[in-house]
This record gives sequence, structure tokens and C-alpha cells, in this order.
Amino acid sequence: MKLTIVSTSDIHAYLYPTDFTQKEMNLPLGLLKVSSFLKNISADEKLYIDNGDFIQGSPLASFVKDKVKTPRILSEFLNELHPVARVLGNHEFNYGVDYLKEAVEASTAPYLAANVLNTDGEPYFGTPYLVKDVGQFKVGIIGLTTQYIPHWENPENIKDFRFISAVEALRHWLPIVQASADFVVVSYHGGFEADPKTEKMLEKPTGENEGYQLLEQFEAIDVLFTGHQHGLYVGQHGKTFYSQPGHKGEYVAVVTLQIDEPTRTITDATIDLHHLTDVTEDLNLKAKVRPLEEQVEKWLDQPIGTVKTDMSITDPNKARLETHPYVTFINAVQSWATGCDISATALFNQKAPGFKGDITMRDIVINYIYTNTLAVLSVSGKDLVEALEQCAAFFTLSDGQITINPNYYIPKPQYYNYDMFSGIDYTFDISKPEGQRVVGLRYKGTPIDLKAPYEIVLNQYRAVGGGNFAMFGPEKIIREYGTDMTELIAQYIKEHPEVEVPAVHNFKVVY
Ligand SMILES: [Zn+2]
Repeated sequence: MKLTIVSTSDIHAYLYPTDFTQKEMNLPLGLLKVSSFLKNISADEKLYIDNGDFIQGSPLASFVKDKVKTPRILSEFLNELHPVARVLGNHEFNYGVDYLKEAVEASTAPYLAANVLNTDGEPYFGTPYLVKDVGQFKVGIIGLTTQYIPHWENPENIKDFRFISAVEALRHWLPIVQASADFVVVSYHGGFEADPKTEKMLEKPTGENEGYQLLEQFEAIDVLFTGHQHGLYVGQHGKTFYSQPGHKGEYVAVVTLQIDEPTRTITDATIDLHHLTDVTEDLNLKAKVRPLEEQVEKWLDQPIGTVKTDMSITDPNKARLETHPYVTFINAVQSWATGCDISATALFNQKAPGFKGDITMRDIVINYIYTNTLAVLSVSGKDLVEALEQCAAFFTLSDGQITINPNYYIPKPQYYNYDMFSGIDYTFDISKPEGQRVVGLRYKGTPIDLKAPYEIVLNQYRAVGGGNFAMFGPEKIIREYGTDMTELIAQYIKEHPEVEVPAVHNFKVVY
């Protein structure tokens, strides 16, 4: 018998093949293409599992939250792909427990969450695993999520939950599932703390991602689906097949098992990540999604307000060398939303066009491409200096000119890891060695006291130390804000007709 098991992860409510930057796009991503891919798989039996982060994270998801006010419709679209199980992602908690419960109720498949417990220590959703009859075999599926959710989530949203280590939960549940199943699939909304191929650590072992430990400690797992990091991983570790299929439905992980029926053993197996190029949309599902998608496109083109200051970005690298009105504006929004006068943000990529004239929601999502909420941290003056030194390493001297350190674009662009700060004055002297470049650092005209506490607003990614900013971290967060940055930018523009950004020159880069 040929059994195919398919996983998607981190779809983030991308349905049509669009990233919403323009109308009528046909990108290789989204639920409609996943659906037709699934329909076209030939196998004696197939099982499809969605690995979480489904109801939040796209302009469409924000629209559903704000205007439709229930995620039922999103859950119902995923039902059309007949998943056998779903897994909770960390972002499933972002819009509160009532919203999440509606998504769970509307799902035809159970949500498996073996390490998401109630305050009595029992699985909150009642179903840590599932044993599915497939032909004459039984396939056990265990669902897990990242235990790190309390490090990002608004405490109100998770006050009824307790999260335990995926390793710990699996130690309990794996023998139970093994006893009643021929094969075991683990679907884990978490990623790899070490590269399964090279075994090289990818990050500090915080417990956020335990995929590598799962591979190392549980040889009995036949298939391990992961996610959360939006990375691309595929391979075999011992007898376990593992994968991680990116995000937005760009890739689908496909495991094919050839099973010898008399001996009940796997005789041949493959695992692949399929990129959804050359896959067309499922027209049936498209017709069902269309009314929502049309409302979202209309909403994206609605005028929000006007900016008086020209914030067009023509030369992003020049913008990073001196303050740019768009960057000043984003920092101003962060300060406005949190009441915190020190703020930092990045120009995420080389494509953001900035703002000019009339602004629509689409302009906002094209510029501010990530789903980010804000956090305020209490850090020491020393932490602040270290963060600035790390940012100063973005620049290097080449032939007597300041240029960008190639580490920030090779092997992958990481412009989002260079932050520009407001609320403090500073200079980077690139003629000095890395780690000694920050000069003239002042807060309200006074030199920074290395031992004194300062409050700073950052996006969640940076706040928890994302981008290897080890001086930040969840333990330093003192306040968190649940509203997405794109929504905050829209609110700010609505409340400030004809936005003007003062010309500030609080930092410079010299040599
Ligand atoms: Zn995700």
C-alpha cells in the first residue's frame, strides 16, 4: 500500500496566490494552490495535517479579525482540504481565547495539542493525539506546539493555559500512541534548534524550538513535521523523516510510505518539499473564498489618510546612513502606541517604497511587510550600547568608503537586523574596530549611564532577542501590546490627518 502524508505549516491565512502588494497576483503560494496540489496526489491513502499558524498573519487575517470578527470562515476554508488533524501554532493565541475557540469549533478535524494544558495539567483541548485507521493499518498522530508562547503572548490570552516542553509531553504520549498504532507521526509547531544535517546549533537552546531533540531522543517517530521558523528543512535522521515547509503555503511537505502489508513494515519511503510553482488554484474553493477576498482587496484600496511629508525611499542604503522620514515615522508610531520615547526599527528590505501623499492600507502592508506587535523592555544603558554596537557592525570600510557589511546580504538578505533608533543621539565611527564604534551616545542631552535602566519599544521579534540581539530578551519585557503594527500605522494616520514628520538628525555614521 502506498500511503502519502502531507503537511502544511504557517499558512498565516494566505488563501489566494497573492501577497497583497498588487491586485490579481498569481504567486506560488496560498491555500487554493495547496488544495489543488492535494487533490492531484495519487496514493492508495493520503493523510493531510495542518501544522498551525493558520488564523493570523496576513492582511486578510487582520481583515477577518477586525471586520468579520470570527475566524470560523477561515477554519471552514481549511475544512475543504479535509485535514485529518490540525495543530495549534503560537499565533493561534494572538486574538484571544474566545476567538481561538471559535476556530476550533468550526474545524471538522481535531486540534491536537499534547503540550497545551489547562490549569489542572490536562490537555486543554482534550485531544493530544489521534489514531487513524488507514486501510488495515493504524497511524498515530501526536500534535505539539512551541512551549515558548508565554514569552510572546499577551498574558490575558493564555491565562487558562500551561505550556510544557514538547520533549516532556512526547515522553509521556509516545509510548501510549505506539502501543495502539503501526506508525507514528508527530506534528510539531516548533522548529529546529540545531540543523538536523550538520548538527550545528542554530540558536541558543531556549526551549522555543526542540525539533532536533525530538529527532535525537525519539527514534520511534516515523515522521516529524515541524514549522514555526518558516524555514525549509527536509531529510531523514535515523529512521525518522522530517520536514519544515516554509510559510504562506509556498511549500508542501510530502512523505510517501510504501508499506508491505503482510509484514506491516515500511519497505520504501521518500520525503520532499514541493514548491507550488506550476500548480493552479482549486477553482471550486476559489469560488467560495472569492467574496471574502474581494472585500479584502476593496479594504486594502480604501484611503486611510494623507501624509504631508514626502517619505518616499529612493535609496534604502542612504536612508540607513542618516535618518529617513519613513524610519522616523515608524519610530514615532511605536512611541505613540506605547508612550516610550526610545524606539528602534529597521528598514526591512530594499523594496519598501515609503509613503507619499494619499495612503491606503495596501501602502501600509507593502512597506511594513511583517506581522509584528510591540513590546516595551527595561534595559540597562550597557544593553543599549551593546545593541547599538551590534547595529554599527552593519557597516564596514571598503576602499575608504562606508559600505554595508556583506554578512547582511550573503547568504541571505538581513537588512531587518539593522535597527535605527529614535529618542537618543548617537554616532557610529566606522574607522574604529567593531564593538568600539558608538560615540556621543546621549539621552535627553545627557550621556547614557551604563548601569541605569532605560525603557525602549521594539517589535516582538527584536524584543525577544530575534536577530541574535542577545542583550534583549523575554525576561526584559515589561509591557506588551497585542495590536499589529500595520493596524497601529493605520490608526496613527487616521488620527493624525496630514501626517508631518519633523526632520530629525539624531544619528550619523562617520569614519
Ligand atoms: Zn508562523
